[in-house]
Amino acid sequence: MHRLTWHLTDIKSLMVLINRVFLLLFYFNVCVFSSELSKSFPQGSLVIGQNNEANEIFVDGEPIKISHDGYYVFPISREQIEPINVTYSNSDGIFLIHQISIEKQDYDIQRIDGLPEQMVTPLDDNIIKRIVAENEVIKEAKKLDMDLTYFKEEFIQPTTGIISGVFGSQRILNGKAKSPHRGIDIATDEGTPVMSCNEGIVIHAESDLYYTGGTIIIDHGHGVKSIYAHLSSVNVEVNQKVSKKDIIGKVGSTGRSTGPHLHWGVMVFNTYVDPLLLLEN
Ligand SMILES: [Zn+2]
Repeated sequence: MHRLTWHLTDIKSLMVLINRVFLLLFYFNVCVFSSELSKSFPQGSLVIGQNNEANEIFVDGEPIKISHDGYYVFPISREQIEPINVTYSNSDGIFLIHQISIEKQDYDIQRIDGLPEQMVTPLDDNIIKRIVAENEVIKEAKKLDMDLTYFKEEFIQPTTGIISGVFGSQRILNGKAKSPHRGIDIATDEGTPVMSCNEGIVIHAESDLYYTGGTIIIDHGHGVKSIYAHLSSVNVEVNQKVSKKDIIGKVGSTGRSTGPHLHWGVMVFNTYVDPLLLLEN
């Protein structure tokens, strides 16, 4: 898991800090707190931080939620290239600006052939209607912004197996370019138990979506959600509270799939991150 490192890039902010002893002390404490942390993040990272002094935190000008105990989280998208500015303010105004540099990742091109054509480019009106309706439900689920802070706990891999698809690869399905892969695929036997990657609340549980088959979405707070797809069995219900490692379903090959595997994704609202980066310490 990548945690935020604090460093000043703005001379003005530095002057403000020097003029305010308590803030200078605070800065010192934060530096001690984060001394083991990296200063840049790979594309596809989930950035988790804590600041007890800020009333507001902005990521490239956009406000983000802060928990009562100072936790916040934001994603770095697969496409992010420019450094990200994180601005911290309280009743005295901006007291810290923190610039995050981005480590560019190399993404593969993944070709998958032999999928039924209806699964790649559906033409049937009823299927299109079904996809639109299902997408609408998922879109609403992604918007949820719960006050939970389970995201700050370590994540676990929901099942073991062979990583058959990595995050971010450009997918070419039956020769047609599709959106990048938004999670990882873990290939294993049908029926292998799938665990929740962290504590959370189930916000979506369906046994048969067109593309993703048996699908579960779990909310971990502040827009952070994990998704589990192609399940052969869905063993949880919406609004159910789950602990990390709870068995929530079983690996299958339902929806758009060429063999038994778990598709595991993690997102913050609409931005997907690389689940494998969450497992690194
Ligand atoms: Zn997948």
